[in-house]
Amino acid sequence: MRAARTVLGDVPAEDLGICDAHDHLFFRSARLPGQELDDVPAAIDEARAFHALGGRTVVQWTPYGLGRRADALAEVSRAGDVHVIAATGLHQAAHYEPEVLREVRGRLDALFVTELTEGMHGGGRAGMIKVAGGFHGLDGHARSVLGAAARAHQATGTLIGVHHELGTASLDVLDLLCGRHGVPPERVILGHLNRFPDPRVHAEAGEAGAFLAFDGPSRANHATDWRLFDLLAALVEAGHADRLLLGGDTTTAAARASTGGGPGMPYLLRVMRPRIVRDLGEDVAEKIFVANPARAFAVDWRC
Ligand SMILES: [Zn+2]
Repeated sequence: MRAARTVLGDVPAEDLGICDAHDHLFFRSARLPGQELDDVPAAIDEARAFHALGGRTVVQWTPYGLGRRADALAEVSRAGDVHVIAATGLHQAAHYEPEVLREVRGRLDALFVTELTEGMHGGGRAGMIKVAGGFHGLDGHARSVLGAAARAHQATGTLIGVHHELGTASLDVLDLLCGRHGVPPERVILGHLNRFPDPRVHAEAGEAGAFLAFDGPSRANHATDWRLFDLLAALVEAGHADRLLLGGDTTTAAARASTGGGPGMPYLLRVMRPRIVRDLGEDVAEKIFVANPARAFAVDWRC
């Protein structure tokens, strides 16, 4: 059955509604000490604030081993009244303690497939694989994780979402996943493209058939946040409105609206969506927030 796999079960794509296509309810990284998102009531507050503005689905791109709180996602989904799609997969090596990577090395394919089909430790099933490239290239860790993700895609049919370091190396990722490993481009979501605002690269990735995901704003990417609308407009103009996705990518407590006074998840619907309606039209907004996520996150599950 073609369905989006949420932490509470599979749902038809048309039930996803307005979607935050890339965000984090929980996240912990060795790179961001003291900035953990690990507070269940705060995650519920943020989900409720998103729901109050019409949001219905949050896709959490926190992969294996980074505090994604599989045990709490069902509670957040119920209490926040949003569908939650969780991720398996692996981030860049720098985000992990070395022993975590040692423990999963050599069994990534099986780990990803198990989390997608049987469930994550302590919680429901993952609905996507999150992986990561490097800054303007792919190191050995990235190549091995992307290879495992491609094989897990072949086994399950799932989609692969990619963190691009400062938005770079998206075409290298497409070469590897689609060119070398045969993943259909429409099963790949290229993330953080706004952080490397090169419209020619974005157009090329759109022509290849991948989904193009933008996010923010954030303090870390403030230098490129202001390019977002020009980038979206250029892609719409080039005929790629059907490929665009948007997320909040809230990775720290200070970035949250409900508890941190930041833009958080509500910003997407409070500020971004009305601006997209005004600048690019209601039908483009409908594609970005509803129709494209429904196509991106629904999967013909093979198991
Ligand atoms: Zn993210």
